[in-house]
Amino acid sequence: MNAPCFRPLGMYCNLSEESLEELVRIGFTHICAGGIDWENDEELRKARSLLKAWSEHIQPYSVHYSCLFNSLDFPVDEVADRLSEWMLKAATLGIRWGVIHPRPGALPDWRNGPEPQVLQAFEDRLVTCLEKVAQRTCSSGTGLSLENDIWDRRVWNWLCTGKDLKRVVSRVGAKNIGICLDMGHVPISGLDPAATILEMGEYLVDTHFNDSFGYFPGRTVWDCDVHIPIGLGMVNWVEVMDALEAIGFTHPICFEAGSQVYPHDAARICFSNWRAIELARWRWDCFGNRPGGGTGPRAAHTSIPRPGSE
Ligand SMILES: [Zn+2]
Repeated sequence: MNAPCFRPLGMYCNLSEESLEELVRIGFTHICAGGIDWENDEELRKARSLLKAWSEHIQPYSVHYSCLFNSLDFPVDEVADRLSEWMLKAATLGIRWGVIHPRPGALPDWRNGPEPQVLQAFEDRLVTCLEKVAQRTCSSGTGLSLENDIWDRRVWNWLCTGKDLKRVVSRVGAKNIGICLDMGHVPISGLDPAATILEMGEYLVDTHFNDSFGYFPGRTVWDCDVHIPIGLGMVNWVEVMDALEAIGFTHPICFEAGSQVYPHDAARICFSNWRAIELARWRWDCFGNRPGGGTGPRAAHTSIPRPGSE
């Protein structure tokens, strides 16, 4: 009988002594540092020495960069310069991946929904920008990943699916440009979590794992983006684990749930739920077939015979 495979786990958290101590106490081996001001050299110096002091217990994995794509026709060279500069600084902190949302901050007031040819032009611009970034940073030890956006049909329907992101990242074709999967965005977009992972394949390098209740009609998609701890929403995490195994994912799993300033309670729930699901999945596999035909806890639950159903 094989031993269960426990993946290394990381958490999104503002970088502080208190956070590092708490994450290590819970059992995390990675931190995804939020709230870093890349223009503040003094702050970067402090971050570097803090991470160094804790390096035996916890490693930095990724960071979130603020959105630089202000408009659909953003200035390619300017953005590529700024991003490359941030990434080279992140590399000095030992950060492996930085994440960006590939969506402009300001969108046109579309009359009949997003116009595909305008979005295609944005994608071409984005690819050119990422090619420049990759050229400047390819040997730095840090990379840039594009996060799947929320499919908001009235306003934005681009770069939300695994297929879309894979198309862009493979067009760039650089080994330090990849994909970050925000799992909470997937059910809100009406997409399937496991299928999305399979679409992303080897380009998936970072995760923002959190749960959601999907889309509520009459609400904005941002209202629905609740970032609750994993296991409390509608994502089937057993199928997520199967899909990660199928694509050979070996990076740490990072959770992005709760508030970044004080996410410690969310961190504890994510950690214990993830480990419990890993263990349950392993036990089912040890016993042969999974209950309910292999689709996880919900199938297991519904397969229990009801009184009087025989
Ligand atoms: Zn995210």
